[in-house]
Amino acid sequence: MKESDTKNEETGIQKAVELMRQGATMLNEACPECSGPLFQLKDDIICPQCGKKVLIVSDEAEVQELEKEAILVELDHAISSQIENLTKRLNEEKDSDELMAIGRLTILWLEALEKLKRIRS
Ligand SMILES: [Zn+2]
Repeated sequence: MKESDTKNEETGIQKAVELMRQGATMLNEACPECSGPLFQLKDDIICPQCGKKVLIVSDEAEVQELEKEAILVELDHAISSQIENLTKRLNEEKDSDELMAIGRLTILWLEALEKLKRIRS
């Protein structure tokens, strides 16, 4: 290890201590440049080693992904209960026109369910 590296590391630790003093918390994420630990101070994510702010895009993208998944799960439930209702009506219905309508709707919902599965996989 070169002397300059050691110095850099020391300033990094000092800066980290300083950040903690200011109320920063250490994150699980590592700096993409130096793979040192990152600190969060309010809305800023800082790498004390590099001495600059770091933008983490994966977090935001992950949150959006989770939100999207939650909506799709909800949709899945809604469609499933629609199919369940249609199945009940199918058992009770005698009128052929009504049966046709129920059949068409069932196919429609099944197709939607299939598309949904494709999106989620
Ligand atoms: Zn860094």
